Amino acid sequence: MTSTLPVCRYCDGLITDPDDAVYLGHEPGNSGPGWGIWAHRAHADLVGPDPVASRGLLRVLLARASSGR
Ligand SMILES: [Zn+2]
Repeated sequence: MTSTLPVCRYCDGLITDPDDAVYLGHEPGNSGPGWGIWAHRAHADLVGPDPVASRGLLRVLLARASSGR
């Protein structure tokens, strides 16, 4: 049991119904264990294929762009 309700990654709304919550993955925190990524069942497909992987890819592209100068 968790004391806080999950927040939808797509609409930033609280997911109050456990049956409506879809777990998308885990996002590591900068100074902590990180947190889970959740979405409403209806919004899960709208978030994207993998938000964590997309952030990692963005980091790689930014590092490449800055090291090229
Ligand atoms: Zn939502």
